[in-house]
Amino acid sequence: MQPFAFSTVPLEPVRYCEALAAPSAGGYASFEGWVRDHNEGRAVRRLEYEAFETLAVKEGERIVAEAVRRFGVTRAACVHRVGALDIGELAVWVGVSAAHRGEAFAACRYIIDEVKRRVPIWKKEHYADGDSGWVNCERCAAAADGRHVHAAEHAVDSAHHHDRIDEAAPGDALLPPPDYSRQIALPEVGVAGQAKLAAASVLVVGAGGLGVPVLQYLAAAGVGRLGIVDGDVVEASNLHRQPLYGPADVGRSKAEVAARRLHALNPAVRVDVHAGRADASNVDALVAGYDLVVECTDNFRTKFLVNDAVLRARKPAVFASVHQYEGQLQVYRPLPHWPCLRCLWPEAPRDGLVGNCAEAGVLGPVPATLGALQAMQALKRLLGLDAGETPALVIVDLLGLETRRLAAQRHPDCDHERPGAPSSAVGPADDIPVELELDFETLAEAFESGLELVDIRESWERAHDPPGLQIPTHLPLSELVHGHVEFPAEGRYLIICAHGVRSLSLTEHLRSLGHPGVYSLRGGLAALRS
Ligand SMILES: [Zn+2]
Repeated sequence: MQPFAFSTVPLEPVRYCEALAAPSAGGYASFEGWVRDHNEGRAVRRLEYEAFETLAVKEGERIVAEAVRRFGVTRAACVHRVGALDIGELAVWVGVSAAHRGEAFAACRYIIDEVKRRVPIWKKEHYADGDSGWVNCERCAAAADGRHVHAAEHAVDSAHHHDRIDEAAPGDALLPPPDYSRQIALPEVGVAGQAKLAAASVLVVGAGGLGVPVLQYLAAAGVGRLGIVDGDVVEASNLHRQPLYGPADVGRSKAEVAARRLHALNPAVRVDVHAGRADASNVDALVAGYDLVVECTDNFRTKFLVNDAVLRARKPAVFASVHQYEGQLQVYRPLPHWPCLRCLWPEAPRDGLVGNCAEAGVLGPVPATLGALQAMQALKRLLGLDAGETPALVIVDLLGLETRRLAAQRHPDCDHERPGAPSSAVGPADDIPVELELDFETLAEAFESGLELVDIRESWERAHDPPGLQIPTHLPLSELVHGHVEFPAEGRYLIICAHGVRSLSLTEHLRSLGHPGVYSLRGGLAALRS
């Protein structure tokens, strides 16, 4: 029997079934698609099928061969009717014989889904009102990616599960895992590497701009178990850089939505949801449950919290951060000479010191690039492909399209062997005087205070300032952070940014370095009366 064929005459399932029999086959599963009398609320009287036959047969044969190979079944075949069909007639038949029923069902399901999706077959529906219309089956496959799809898309079959992409339907267990052949083909990966990934577990802290690509690529690659830590809900302003989520997810838990999407992406991957923030009370338990940690938050407090936890647990971790058009990447490995995050940043920056996406703005591909790099570093570690890699801080400038690799060394003063050391060493410093922030109603009032006003916004932020709002002293925060300019060591200053977040962080930081005369304008320029 041909693996895939078209028939202009009524199908003969009994005869096809006999052709699949084999001594090694313990069972047979089949699917029959029948012509139904309604579609999308319209009464259907009969159908016509038309196929682009040469192409369609080739694609159909390919699908059947894939199913036999993937599921290890004995025999499989598919026959599709073309021409005019009446209600109740058999339109498509799929049959699979196999040693066991599990793979027979799975292969059968795979063939019908792929035939619907890939084989060029058009259907003309003749409606009860005399009207008629062509329906391309590919349309259904495209629609299956959307959320708002009518379940009754087809006039012929009931095995068309449009919910399979988005929601974790019970039938998902029958769906095959992705075909990993394109990564197994790499000699460095191979079947053994794929098995390593399947046995591996990765904790992803933060399911935002960095975490989304990390989760998608690790799930698609077949990493056996993923943990998602995120206490936030999806916000409309996240969507442009976190395309795992859509408008319908706004207000829902990121960790939970992400877990469902990942399950649909690869049903073979187990996803653990930790819908809360990582903090000093839970970080060690979280890290203990996984082989590797990928840190994807946008705040330094969590980065150092995770850093300290992976040091204690002696587990590898991949860190990244982005600021506007630039990103930084750093891998930690539990090796004696290997530097940690604190080795590179002994004066641990505070939250918001380099801005965050909310305040500084970001284009989606910037975190996406860094997230993809994090996923790559994680896969390399899990596969053991990073043997020759030396410690480095990698800086990616997406605007200049340049990458810099700064060799990193373990800081002699950084104590990596401190069991039980407080994991929140970047917590709020208690020795900072209370009055970090000052209130002013207008800029003129601030000028009169005797403090020197320092604008730390970036140049692009100042470009649209009205003439009366110009602050002569301009020290962009990005330049301060990168050491291109220094904040004056003495004097009394009022530090100003757009909303008072970055200015407060810088003020705290300068105070912690022993600069007593610095204050932050509370609420930033946005809070001033013009
Ligand atoms: Zn260190």
